[in-house]
Amino acid sequence: MDHFLYRDAELHAEDVMLRDIADAVGTPFYCYSTATLTRHFQLFTEALAPLPHLVCYAVKANSNLAVLKHLGELGAGMDVVSIGEYHRARAAGVPGDRIVFSGVGKTRAEMRAALDGGIRQFNVESEPELDALSEVAAAMGATAPIALRVNPDVDARTHEKISTGRKEDKFGVPLARARDIYARAARLPGLRVVGIDMHIGSQLTDLAPFEAAYTRMAELTRQLRADGHAIGRLDLGGGLGIPYTRSNEAPPLPTDYGAMVKRVLGDLDCEIEIEPGRLIAGNAGILVAQVIYRKEGEGRDFLILDAAMNDLIRPAMYGAHHDIVPLTEAEPGTPLAPVDIVGPVCESGDTFARQRPMPPLGPGDLVAFRSAGAYGAVMASEYNTRPLIPEVLVCGDHFAVIRHRPTFDEMLSRDTLPPWM
Ligand SMILES: *Cc1c(COP(=O)(O)O)cnc(C)c1O
Repeated sequence: MDHFLYRDAELHAEDVMLRDIADAVGTPFYCYSTATLTRHFQLFTEALAPLPHLVCYAVKANSNLAVLKHLGELGAGMDVVSIGEYHRARAAGVPGDRIVFSGVGKTRAEMRAALDGGIRQFNVESEPELDALSEVAAAMGATAPIALRVNPDVDARTHEKISTGRKEDKFGVPLARARDIYARAARLPGLRVVGIDMHIGSQLTDLAPFEAAYTRMAELTRQLRADGHAIGRLDLGGGLGIPYTRSNEAPPLPTDYGAMVKRVLGDLDCEIEIEPGRLIAGNAGILVAQVIYRKEGEGRDFLILDAAMNDLIRPAMYGAHHDIVPLTEAEPGTPLAPVDIVGPVCESGDTFARQRPMPPLGPGDLVAFRSAGAYGAVMASEYNTRPLIPEVLVCGDHFAVIRHRPTFDEMLSRDTLPPWM
């Protein structure tokens, strides 16, 4: 459920007509709905309400300051995977004791900065990282709260590139080694064990892999407590999938997820942390683009848009599907015809959809990519010296640009010529 609906045949974001935003900021642009962000965040807090919990929004899904500030004001914690994201969360007003630091390659400089600024917990992913964190914290006279990211070796049955909980994936420490590593952590200076962490993948459309992983987590909690560790927090990671098409399978609802969590982990007397990214931001955003040309090819037609793979890379990178709809709804009964929907970048990978049934569209027409609020703007690049596209936030009947389109001067000013030129 989101707040991008047709009204009088024109697509709106909440109470704002998207065409009005296009007139004001130009295309292409990302547009986010405040009400949808709120609703998705609340789905999680309600689903986990019977248990002490903190929803730590995964900043990497959409890290715009305005998005972070809105979620932070609702009470969200943040899950960050770099010190850059940490700085964003802090700049958005989120206190350090609500920020969890994940990621396989934290540098000592990042650890130092997070300890300095205040941090809820480091999710440690390897023994060398444990040693590094111990050294850094001890040298600062600080104590780093840690959870070990344990790889439960379950197959999340999602896309290869976003599956993270199998033993061949680079993430976490093997379950079989966990007790030894916790014992080691307890002996190292500068560390304090606070919990266990897992994150098995993204865009999961089935609760079974989560349940398998959390069952192992419950067992490990009991073992570690018997070994003398104070396990007070269980970080369950993110990964709940969203519907990318209106028609096909419905991923599990946060309420069902919450009920499963309560059933499997509810009697352990732990604070539950979850790190949803996609489910909060994904369907809270769309990308609006304009058709530049309609090209009649041999046997197939192409709609060439002013948006490209550098603006939204998910189709090129993961073969991902995004529903693409016209801003002006086609009359009921309008015949659909298959077209390839592509961007202007000089790569065949710059294809958003092949043979997609669409109503008749031509130059100047506006279209919206649905479900583009997560892993959209954050993965954009300036490939082909295409400016990063603006981001707009709607709230009720008003909107604001929350990242402007850079000028070419701004873009070029980041390059510097060497002294010999
Ligand atoms: C990517 C990631 C998330 C968020 O995943 P979603 O599928 O967007 O919910 C949460 N935790 C960690 C450690 C991640 O790497």
